Amino acid sequence: MTKPHHYKIRPSNPTAHLFEVSVTVADPDPAGQAFAIPAWVPGSYLIRDLARHVIGMAATSDGADVPLTKTDKSTWLAAPCDGPLTITAEIHAYDHSVRGAHLDTTHGFFDGAAVFPSVVGQEDRECRVEIGPPADAVGSSWRVATSMRPLDAGPYEFGTYVVQDYAELIDHPVEMGDILIGEFEVAGIPHVIAVSGHSRFDMARICHDLTTLCAAQLSFLGVPEDLDRYLFLLAVKETGYGGLEHRWSSALMCSRKDLPRRGASTVDDDYRKFLGLCSHEYFHLWNVKRMKPERFTPYDLTAESHTGLLWVFEGITSYYDDLFLARSGLVTNDSYLELLARTITRVQRTPGRFRQDVEASSFDAWTKLYQADSNSPNAMISYYSKGALVALALDMTIRKESAGRFSLDDVVKECWRLYRDEGMPERGLESVARSITGLELEDFFERYVRGTADLPLQGLLKIVGVQLHLRPASDRKDLGGKPAKTDTQATPWLGATLVSDGGASRFSSVLNGSPAEHAGIAPGDEAVAIDGLRLTAENADSRLRDHHVGDTVTLTVFRDHRLLRHRVRLGAPPEDTCYLTIDADAEDDVVAQRNTWLGQD
Ligand SMILES: [Zn+2]
Repeated sequence: MTKPHHYKIRPSNPTAHLFEVSVTVADPDPAGQAFAIPAWVPGSYLIRDLARHVIGMAATSDGADVPLTKTDKSTWLAAPCDGPLTITAEIHAYDHSVRGAHLDTTHGFFDGAAVFPSVVGQEDRECRVEIGPPADAVGSSWRVATSMRPLDAGPYEFGTYVVQDYAELIDHPVEMGDILIGEFEVAGIPHVIAVSGHSRFDMARICHDLTTLCAAQLSFLGVPEDLDRYLFLLAVKETGYGGLEHRWSSALMCSRKDLPRRGASTVDDDYRKFLGLCSHEYFHLWNVKRMKPERFTPYDLTAESHTGLLWVFEGITSYYDDLFLARSGLVTNDSYLELLARTITRVQRTPGRFRQDVEASSFDAWTKLYQADSNSPNAMISYYSKGALVALALDMTIRKESAGRFSLDDVVKECWRLYRDEGMPERGLESVARSITGLELEDFFERYVRGTADLPLQGLLKIVGVQLHLRPASDRKDLGGKPAKTDTQATPWLGATLVSDGGASRFSSVLNGSPAEHAGIAPGDEAVAIDGLRLTAENADSRLRDHHVGDTVTLTVFRDHRLLRHRVRLGAPPEDTCYLTIDADAEDDVVAQRNTWLGQD
């Protein structure tokens, strides 16, 4: 019987944002034991080199110091000793995202990959984790929320927890602080939402709505055998948005305004966004946490792991996250179609969709999507948004070609059955889609997954009696999803995005082929005036509406403190803004197909 590793973590110095972490190894490698901190966090495809937050590390055995040397950016090697061997590290924790570690006098949070060194070569051993409280009075009321299984800790208490191996150790984020707890049960499985960040909201309503949402998803792909608990770990900020999926939990961040107020009963845009985030991360419980690309089984956390399948794991998840809001009845069909139209609008506004396909977008996530810059709109497409639309197009194509006998639901269910344990091969989804439906889909994958052809959504959505309309944007805040306001005049087009940057307004990106590009405007230019009148991000729409399409205006900007004058011929605004409507005259079979799609049969 192998002995478990003993990890300890405690907020040793909240005011200096320091966690103390140690691990004791019963049987260190006789040739010298190595310890490593991951270079990246599963689910977030960027080399973060988390070891850079380690401030100091020391090794001891039987009360004596053991020499420790660093062998690469993420690895330490302890000299041979008889054991047990303990290494202790001090880790700086001041990352505000859901993918790192954060500690101050109000709370602590960590993703295990950011704080726990692995015992190299013994990663498969059980780990005991002692989570200790802060030493001073500052954290006397703190509680702990994690999906780790307690060994001797009571509910929400500091104490010892246990996990099966290192992979699991870094799959249970931990929050400590003054946490609000909401508990609910779905399909007999205890679910918890633990909220930090001092906000006032309707917890009972959130628990009620999440019960509905989770139940709909659980009945879609079935309850995974090892899903015996689930935790939504939510950090509420004044402004913030994001999430990271885990096997038994998710780490979420939202804005205070996203949570429902007590007494409110409608689903406004902000709360809908919050529910969409929960829906997204919960869907990952199947799609990427238990069924993942073959190339992630196991994860290599020392370097980039390239796969062309992120559009399957993020794009299909992004398709179903909003769809399940409609299928569970939390939002109306019109509300769902508004969300879908906004996704279509985002993709329509990104000319980079003609330069990068979703397979390439997946493969290059590490250097492109996660390292976006001012030229990204011209050069790349998100495997989230375009991936969601590829999923929609595939769903509609299958429904159409199979005369309603099959849908993407069947493909995802079959993938889940086939690949949940051993991982999905690079062409796995494609082969399942073809075998389960009997359809010849090679052309679809060549054109829309490995190619950059625009998706024929207008025609495809007719299968479910939905009409797709495109119109010019009304103004810079127009996200799409609704018809144009009848009284708005089209804004002449510059083709460059202007954003507020402190007191200044700067062009953050310039689209290829746009009037701004032809005139010589560059990203980073500070807007000064248009025909002698001050131009800012806030007044850009009304300034541009002073002119007509085809007018030539003088645009002055500062670039590197030099005043530059550009002559710009204003263009016609592109029809890049989408809204969707339900065809009231659709035939019965089309209505039936729509009801099946939206889960209302
Ligand atoms: Zn995701």
